Amino acid sequence: MQDIKSFTLEELKLEMEALGEKSFRAKQLYQWMHQKLARSFDEMTNLPLSLREKCVQSYEYTSIREVKMQESAIDGTRKYLFELKDGSLVESVWMKYKHGNSVCISSQVGCRMGCVFCASTIGGLERSLTPSEMLDQIYKVTLLTGERVSNVVVMGTGEPLDNYDNLLRFIQLLTDENGLHISQRNITVSTCGLVPQMFQLADEKLQITLALSLHASSDEKRKELMPIANKYSIAELIEACRYYFEKTGRRITFEYSLVGGVNDKPEDAERLAALMKGLNCHVNLIPVNPIKERDFVQSKGAEIASFKNKLEKNGINVTIRREMGRDIDGACGQLRRRQKALQ
Ligand code: SAH
Repeated sequence: MQDIKSFTLEELKLEMEALGEKSFRAKQLYQWMHQKLARSFDEMTNLPLSLREKCVQSYEYTSIREVKMQESAIDGTRKYLFELKDGSLVESVWMKYKHGNSVCISSQVGCRMGCVFCASTIGGLERSLTPSEMLDQIYKVTLLTGERVSNVVVMGTGEPLDNYDNLLRFIQLLTDENGLHISQRNITVSTCGLVPQMFQLADEKLQITLALSLHASSDEKRKELMPIANKYSIAELIEACRYYFEKTGRRITFEYSLVGGVNDKPEDAERLAALMKGLNCHVNLIPVNPIKERDFVQSKGAEIASFKNKLEKNGINVTIRREMGRDIDGACGQLRRRQKALQ
């Protein structure tokens, strides 16, 4: 059966025609799914029962179940563990900021990129998520918190550009005026740096923010942390970032997780500053979140401060990522791993 929540409004119109229904039913259905966040066809009370029955017979209606929720006592950040229809587990995070609420979603079940500091990648990739499964995370969090989501970051488990077509469709549905109508500018997609897809994304000319997980300023060091660095060099990545900015006018965010004694030395900062020269960008420094499977440690406060200083002296925009939800398995994939270990 086809997944009805992954259809665009245009496609849904064609579906309704094929079922012998009036095309205005498509918009009603679409709004029930994507605006009123109905959990089943039963809730769509202004649709004739006959149509609802046809839908039940013709389409799959995805839904997700809350397995666990942990709320940070420090900042109210909530981490959800959801179960998909096939039993797969994914994590989503809800963060409350002064300027609005943000949800961080997963794009795949597991991940095949193999970054050594990341818990999401340890069991490898199970499968990619469908557009509706990415939307469901946002819809479920909205229903559970009772609060509107204004920002979406695709920065949870998985490599979004390794699930390119579903990601683009997800963005189309999420920004549709008959759905949650989230502005493209309020969507961030984070990648470990799949160069061909970065070029492709630039050509879509969307207004979303692209975040690149750089984490090192030399190819040699990057290869130690991220296997993808064996495939694409930093020079190629920077070229792709330049192209993205040229095509979209959107400033790139570089993510740099500071790992104690590995990539946090003054010469790392110098090299990073040289790489960023002339690029319209922003650097986000993230103190690495230690995971129990590896023995990485966070950089010391003084090292973090001097790393930041060095970049700033070179005229680079830097922020140190506020560590939201430190007390609730904040790092990617930790909650999911713990749950799987219990099963
Ligand atoms: N695959 C994408 C998106 C998911 S990871 C990407 O690589 O960007 C989201 C971000 O969290 C990435 O920057 C990733 O490198 C970082 N990350 C993963 N594990 C981490 C950890 N233990 N501590 C700090 N950052 C981590």
